[in-house]
Amino acid sequence: MRSKIVAGNWKMNKTLKESKELANELKSVVENVTLDNTRVIVAPTFVNLTRVSEAVEGSAIEVAAQNMHQADSGAYTGEISGEMLKGIGLNSVILGHSERRAYFGEDDALLASKVDAALKNNLEIIFCFGEELEDRKSDNHFNVVGSQLKNGIFHLPSDAWKNVVLAYEPVWAIGTGETASPEQAQEMHAFIRNLIEETYNESVADNVSILYGGSVKPGNAEEIFSKPDVDGGLIGGAALKAEDFGAIIKAI
Ligand code: PEP
Repeated sequence: MRSKIVAGNWKMNKTLKESKELANELKSVVENVTLDNTRVIVAPTFVNLTRVSEAVEGSAIEVAAQNMHQADSGAYTGEISGEMLKGIGLNSVILGHSERRAYFGEDDALLASKVDAALKNNLEIIFCFGEELEDRKSDNHFNVVGSQLKNGIFHLPSDAWKNVVLAYEPVWAIGTGETASPEQAQEMHAFIRNLIEETYNESVADNVSILYGGSVKPGNAEEIFSKPDVDGGLIGGAALKAEDFGAIIKAI
């Protein structure tokens, strides 16, 4: 059975002090809720990964990285490898976030190599993708999403999918305050699950968690999460405040 997941992407926010404070606050939130088949993940910036992991130790909160390089080591100044993430005890990494695609030129081919490197290092992948506003306006959103999946992650064999979580994040809804309607999210998630069933089989499709991301807030989380193919959320802005992220965890 697929898990429900609430994941918080802290992006380039929070100093060490602020990160530890937020981690401690979230720890209390999570201790006071029943997490029925639900995972809670936070993704702080690289430099704070170890200390946040220490802060949440003993709680149900998991820690993920926001990105990684595709090589294990070498002359790649400023980069961090999957082997290094595994080495500090992490089990998950976000790949393909729209900000990585837009500002750092990460295309499908590069992401496919990062996907392989993550799996080689036994890291679960939270694979992000989603269409731009123009794609939706021109009714091309299903094609764009289909091709991001085909070119970025559908090369994996079916047994690798137990280590994959998908995050559908329409670019026009990220950090904009504008969110896909629960119906739009459900429609796309059902399309994605269908595509996985066609490409692999029913069991892979049924077992993969598909998260929605894009301006999820305490006020809209419950309705979005109530849709049958929406298995949780990848949260940006609202993950930076324990009160809001806690309310979103409770919504699921
Ligand atoms: C994100 O960056 O993944 C995201 C969904 O951000 P926000 O919740 O702020 O729209």
